[in-house]
Amino acid sequence: MSQPVVTRFAPSPTGFLHIGGARTALFNWLYARGRGGKFLLRIEDTDRERSTPEATAAILQGMDWLGLDYDGDVISQFERAGRHAEVALKLLAEGKAYKCFATQDEIAAFREQSKAEGKSTLYRSPWRDSDPDTHPDAPFVVRIKAPKEGETVIQDEVQGNVTIKNQQLDDMILLRSDGTPVYMLAVVVDDHDMGVTHVIRGDDHLNNAARQMMIYTAMGWPLPVYAHIPLIHGADGKKLSKRHGALGAQEYQAMGYPAAGMRNYLARLGWSHGDDEFFTDAQAKDWFNFDGIGKSPARFDTKKLENLCGQHIAEIEDAALRHEIVAYLDATKEPALTEAQSENLEKAMFCLKDRAKTFPELLEKAQFALASRPIEPDAKAQKALRNVSDGILGELTPHLQSASWSRDELEASLNAFAEAHDTKFGKLAAPLRAALAGRAVTPSVFDMMMVLGRDETLARIQDAAG
Ligand code: GLU
Repeated sequence: MSQPVVTRFAPSPTGFLHIGGARTALFNWLYARGRGGKFLLRIEDTDRERSTPEATAAILQGMDWLGLDYDGDVISQFERAGRHAEVALKLLAEGKAYKCFATQDEIAAFREQSKAEGKSTLYRSPWRDSDPDTHPDAPFVVRIKAPKEGETVIQDEVQGNVTIKNQQLDDMILLRSDGTPVYMLAVVVDDHDMGVTHVIRGDDHLNNAARQMMIYTAMGWPLPVYAHIPLIHGADGKKLSKRHGALGAQEYQAMGYPAAGMRNYLARLGWSHGDDEFFTDAQAKDWFNFDGIGKSPARFDTKKLENLCGQHIAEIEDAALRHEIVAYLDATKEPALTEAQSENLEKAMFCLKDRAKTFPELLEKAQFALASRPIEPDAKAQKALRNVSDGILGELTPHLQSASWSRDELEASLNAFAEAHDTKFGKLAAPLRAALAGRAVTPSVFDMMMVLGRDETLARIQDAAG
């Protein structure tokens, strides 16, 4: 039996969960969840100056919204510093790392001289093979002994084999002179200890992989499978930046995109499964693999996101959709719905969810179901009410009183009424929309009547008839 898959998302808590991070998290989640594996979350908070608890909270909130559930507890990288140092000291004891006493000035002088001589400026410490008896009683850093010759091949599931000449690798620092571990060491130790089998991350980390592999090799640990995914670009083909608009997952939540639509879109951002655009989580988990990940940067396309979100809104079950909208209002600090409004919203869902791409769009259409009497007509609705011939709405009331309350029946009944008044139903529609919703743009009059029921419908028409 093959080893169970363990993936992780390892964000640095220096800001919100951006779209690129969210996509990395999603890919790791899909890969693990589709294989009965584990998906872990590690907060890379070793940089004490740049890491903030607010950023960690924003990342957790973003993951929660996107429904990317992780296994076990959130791991803090900073809290594991002791373990990272332990590994560095082990390598030191085994002679795979060494104490370097070079001062900043000496390193700077080395670099300058190398530059002047046209040589590589990668630092080569004279302490690498020094006799411990010659060591001064002075501050030191611990450096790994990088291989001097040969090549390192990163076997990447997306990028293919990436070969790096070992001459390009320096004896990187593992422990600083104050004994604190460096980030590169922390990543490897954590991934190993967490049992991570697959490292899926942005290709800005590809170069790190070669350096990280040195630590795996020195420790005799098995390498994870690497998959470095191309970054996301804006519609103009340039690296995604603030210039392109919203960057944070939370901003998309605030714009009222459904999480399922966002997941679908993010999955398509750099990965494909044939021509499939719209799919469910279950399908994505089933289909997701490295073969479908493209080598070139994906372009963020808001139109496509909206289109998919519209399709998801149409597919989500009414009760679940209601629940998501209530959560959306809460997250965006909009006034909460009363229980009655929330129930009405669910009842109306059948005529709201078809063409809404976002929750605000859906709520706009839901206005008639959320409002209570007296309905305040807006300017357009007022005009429609003024244009209707006197008394016609009033006459409609007894007519509807006796109609049986089914969509077909109402349609037939209103058409017959229009005919009897030498007009077309189309002419009645605008004032009816105005009476029932106070708006000019609404779901169909019959749908609104079905949602409101006879009593409320008649009361609103009577109110408008004056
Ligand atoms: N903390 C890194 C980042 O936020 C990710 C490191 C990794 O995935 O190995 O870019």
